Amino acid sequence: MNLFEASLSFARELDGQDELRNFRDEFYFPERDGKDAIYFCGNSLGLQPKGVEAAIAQELADWRQHAVEGYWNAKNPWLFYQTALREPLAKIMGSRETEISVMNTLTVNLHFMMLSFYKPTKSRFKVLMEEGAFPSDQYAVETQVKMHGFDPEEAIVEIKPRPGEHLLRSEDILQIINEHNDTIAVILLGGINYYTGQLYNLAEITKAAHQVGAIAGFDLAHVAGNVPMQLHEWQVDFAVWCSYKYLNSGPGAVGGAFVHEKHAANRGYPRLGGWWGNEESTRFKMEKGFIPKATAEGWQMSTAQVMNMVSLKASLELFDTAGIHNLRAKSIQLTNYLEFLLAQVKGLNFEIITPKDCNERGAQLSLRFNEKGKEIHQQLTNAGIIVDWREPGVIRVAPTPMYNSYEDVFHFYEIIENIASKRLIK
Ligand SMILES: *Cc1c(COP(=O)(O)O)cnc(C)c1O
Repeated sequence: MNLFEASLSFARELDGQDELRNFRDEFYFPERDGKDAIYFCGNSLGLQPKGVEAAIAQELADWRQHAVEGYWNAKNPWLFYQTALREPLAKIMGSRETEISVMNTLTVNLHFMMLSFYKPTKSRFKVLMEEGAFPSDQYAVETQVKMHGFDPEEAIVEIKPRPGEHLLRSEDILQIINEHNDTIAVILLGGINYYTGQLYNLAEITKAAHQVGAIAGFDLAHVAGNVPMQLHEWQVDFAVWCSYKYLNSGPGAVGGAFVHEKHAANRGYPRLGGWWGNEESTRFKMEKGFIPKATAEGWQMSTAQVMNMVSLKASLELFDTAGIHNLRAKSIQLTNYLEFLLAQVKGLNFEIITPKDCNERGAQLSLRFNEKGKEIHQQLTNAGIIVDWREPGVIRVAPTPMYNSYEDVFHFYEIIENIASKRLIK
């Protein structure tokens, strides 16, 4: 940690050495008082890549010129639009291309995955989740469990941090898996907890799930485009994500799902069908009898939502050029620098609840304020910093390697240091 210095010149030196620094110019930053804001909210909504506008214009032009024939004749034929997104996503997820399906939105995909993978019986019916999981996940699981006629009180098992702690300990996760053993149907965790920023050991959890005969599924909302995965190798059964956070694809952008080949190759795997999940060779014969594709795309239902995929396409081109592993290497350094600087701040009552080990976190640090957190958040906002506040007491700060600089991190520190030393908070 002493490799770092708390100075603007040092931050600029790190920027000078950063081979990814020019990607910043590919994004629009919101302005505050005529200047670019310091944007550390890429974990909530990523910035707009400058290439999105032209990419949308292309599809509008193809629609204008080709109308229905755009399905075949557009520059990016709409029939296969989602297919082109699989390759760059497969690199980010560490999967085969055929294990990726670009479709719907996260919660919708979670429901569809649960419909296929949560097949409760009288004796094996529990879903293991983290306490305080993202609300949409809680509601999805609660209603799934009820749809199958079970009582959420009994069927949902929550893993909690120990009293006085904020994070889940690996050994406690494994312990609770062993405890509930063959009553567990599905283990469903966020890959990174949205509140604490804790990154779980997906390989270990998947292995433990399989040892008790359960399915391992993950919500990768805070992982996608943040931390590279190895979903195929780890034998993860399914995963879902959204694309508007670190993947910079804009509000409500198309989400994605991973289905491991061992399930996806089985056309008989239970699911709900629609024509876009049907084999392409017979899709337009309009005949009886659903024949799903033997890939994750066998879970698709409707026509590709092209206009909703355009910005993901533009964004993934940047990811492909930068490389997810290069981004991760920078991200570790950038977040470590933020952590180092925050440790220099005296006189503000907060703790960082995110794990200290960079292998147990992504880009985000969660600052828990014991008091005055909301006021400090307001002062940061007034000073041109965009970070978010999560009840009951956390400011999440996520420097994003694609477009944030070490200088951004240093300015954030300067401002928080000002807030602390001027004792603006009474
Ligand atoms: C952001 C987020 C979601 C959002 O779900 P949508 O269906 O895209 O609205 C779900 N789960 C987690 C963990 C998230 O962080």
